[in-house]
Amino acid sequence: MPVTRDYRDLNTIKLFTRINGVLVNETPLRIGTGGENLLEAPVDIAVYRVSDVPVIPGSSLKGALRQLAESILASKGHEAHDPWDFEKMEEEMENGNVCVICGLFGSTRLASHVKIFDARPLDPGKARTFTKTGVAINREFGGAWGGLLYTEELVVPNVEWDFKMDIINIRVFREADPSDERASLLRSLFDILMDPGISIGARKSAGHGLIRLRKMSWRVYKIEGGKLTLEDEGEVGKFG
Ligand SMILES: [Zn+2]
Repeated sequence: MPVTRDYRDLNTIKLFTRINGVLVNETPLRIGTGGENLLEAPVDIAVYRVSDVPVIPGSSLKGALRQLAESILASKGHEAHDPWDFEKMEEEMENGNVCVICGLFGSTRLASHVKIFDARPLDPGKARTFTKTGVAINREFGGAWGGLLYTEELVVPNVEWDFKMDIINIRVFREADPSDERASLLRSLFDILMDPGISIGARKSAGHGLIRLRKMSWRVYKIEGGKLTLEDEGEVGKFG
């Protein structure tokens, strides 16, 4: 009999886990905004900022973790469907047999069971940036047009960022729920995020954007009759 995974439970929140941690970018980092006006921007490709402070958007972190989750599943022989396969997502919802990836990160039909907040620098003064000049290769015209010079902005390495994530209705801590594949998958994601880390943003192939989770604490809350109570809390990981 096939395993049925009905993850359509978000109308009732029974269990809520808040993760707090510190991310460190070990190499230069740029989560770009893209699309700067080349004539007006001081650099062609700038770092994403909120109120003048560089920020790692939660959506970028979530996207990177989703990709990692897909490759973990693929390594176990479970091929994930395309994130834009609307028909498949529709079918999953109707059958009440949602795939693990959608059951965790959401789909067009199902809200996400995880929420990742924007990561801000713990000390905004240390989130300095530098610019680099590169040569863009014009793929269409190749050598005939030569290279096009551009400047890009990157955040210096070893900035500490505030990591915050919520997990809804999945028991990941203190012990991962053995009956929920998403719980062990999340544990694997946290393990990899701690060591060796994951790459986010631009120029991953050049080794840029390697981030690691340096420390992490979790709090599990139970919600019963509209009341939120702290059930358990703890810490995971390497310190220093
Ligand atoms: Zn799915």
